[in-house]
Amino acid sequence: MGSFQNVAVIGAGLAGLSCATALQAVGHRVSVFDKSRGVAGRMSTRRGDGWQCDHGAQYFTARSAAFRAELARWLSAGVAAVWAPRLAVFGAADQHRPDAELLRYVGAPQMTAPARWLADALLEPVNTGVQIERLVRAGAGWRLQGAAAAAPVDQVFDAVLLALPAPQALALLQEPAPELAQWAAGVRMRAAWALMLNYGAPQELGFDAGFVNQGPLRWVARNSSKPGRSGAESWLLHAQAEWSELRLAMPPEQVAEALLRAFAALGGPPPAAWFAHRWLYADRAPGSVGPAGGCAWDAGLGLGLCGDWLAGGKVEGAWLSGQALAQQVALLGLLGANTGIKKTAVGHNPP
Ligand code: FAD
Repeated sequence: MGSFQNVAVIGAGLAGLSCATALQAVGHRVSVFDKSRGVAGRMSTRRGDGWQCDHGAQYFTARSAAFRAELARWLSAGVAAVWAPRLAVFGAADQHRPDAELLRYVGAPQMTAPARWLADALLEPVNTGVQIERLVRAGAGWRLQGAAAAAPVDQVFDAVLLALPAPQALALLQEPAPELAQWAAGVRMRAAWALMLNYGAPQELGFDAGFVNQGPLRWVARNSSKPGRSGAESWLLHAQAEWSELRLAMPPEQVAEALLRAFAALGGPPPAAWFAHRWLYADRAPGSVGPAGGCAWDAGLGLGLCGDWLAGGKVEGAWLSGQALAQQVALLGLLGANTGIKKTAVGHNPP
């Protein structure tokens, strides 16, 4: 285990939990922090009175052998399942065509389930509701500073691993680690408006999900068609990134009006209720400059970076990136090495 005995992971999305799980397995003491009330990050599910809806990641694929092996564990634990929606394509058929052969998976009974399962296996419960605002050098280690009311721990960590979207990692790294901060600085992440729809009765539209290549929408899905979902009928609409970015400050009522109009053009009826959510950092912009090496690790500082944006994006990339960083920390800890910034490549193709 060497010199990085006590490790803090900031971010309890899939990348952070993947990394924490792998480090714990080789004997590190790991503390995970997340600003949200629960774990799973962008693999999230909104729950209300008698309804639920996945409003971030919609499904995931597994292409690499390593992630397929992890997925097999999730399937056997019952926290993931195959989802075989009847897929439609609206608008220009040459953009965003679904691969009919592709196996699509979802968390079960909700998208957060795999992350919760990983978090439950950690020896130290995830510290939720703790937003880390500063990393402060303390000898050879680091102290974490949070918002005053939620100051997390009076503890010095040998290493701090940031499992955050690039802009949020950048905010924490700028002062203590300008070189690592450069990794995140060039990466632009795109926004996405999500609209969750509730109905009093099942809605049969002839498809369960659709790629939309026209107007403001890019994806619509019948959440209730995913395995294990309970509660009232719910559908999810995701807006195009460009459309969303031009309307970041738009009142949710106006966003909902535009997206509901576009859904109606696909045959979608007006819902009994809707809930909007604005994702500021949904995914890495295509063509965005900056690294994509799997993870980054500065053994001299004891600081590392992982997250979907470093490994091809998506759920699989997030998990692989967490594994890659854990390997770096464990390996260099064993060797007692102090060799500057390392980057690791992980191999997979995004869905
Ligand atoms: P995140 O899940 O973002 O985790 C980062 C965590 O850090 C969050 O929990 C956050 O609360 C926490 N955090 C941030 N700042 C701080 C701080 N200062 N202190 C403490 N905690 C902090 N992927 C697919 O594979 N298929 C899809 O269909 C798909 N669709 C998507 C649709 C949308 C709208 C969105 C938003 C994402 C989608 N994705 C999809 C992408 C997928 O959700 C992500 O790739 C993956 O979940 C990223 O995991 P992560 O751990 O890297 O980051």
